[in-house]
Amino acid sequence: MQFQKVGKDYLINIDKDEKVVETLTRFCKENGIKNAKLSGIGAVKKTEIGAYDLPKKEYIKREYSEILELLSLEGNIALKDGEPFIHAHVVLSDHKMQTLGGHLFETTVGVAGEFFLREFDGNAFREFRPDIGLACMCLDKSFE
Ligand code: ZN
Repeated sequence: MQFQKVGKDYLINIDKDEKVVETLTRFCKENGIKNAKLSGIGAVKKTEIGAYDLPKKEYIKREYSEILELLSLEGNIALKDGEPFIHAHVVLSDHKMQTLGGHLFETTVGVAGEFFLREFDGNAFREFRPDIGLACMCLDKSFE
């Protein structure tokens, strides 16, 4: 993994065979990033994505071992239990140019992994909501 920082913007290049969520989470911890916007493109493999089933309060999960184009990763970073937590969704495409997507659990760079992270001075954090079954975003109004 390599990165360049300009102000509060980071361009992050994750190498082939490196895990994306794990690497970006570690990057945030090492750089003290608590709140940020995240985006990315590339080609990935060993991808686990999901869709949330609210009545069951669990994710329907699917894994894809093959290399897929990472058309778009869009996400954010907020603190969960005091640690930076990445919430990201992806749109992927196969060799027939057909797309699929979902909530990203983990993926590994298959060819290229190019990410852009913009840090902001917020204090957003995640707290478990029993009615939803997930740690949802909370915004402290003291910044308004
Ligand atoms: Zn999600």
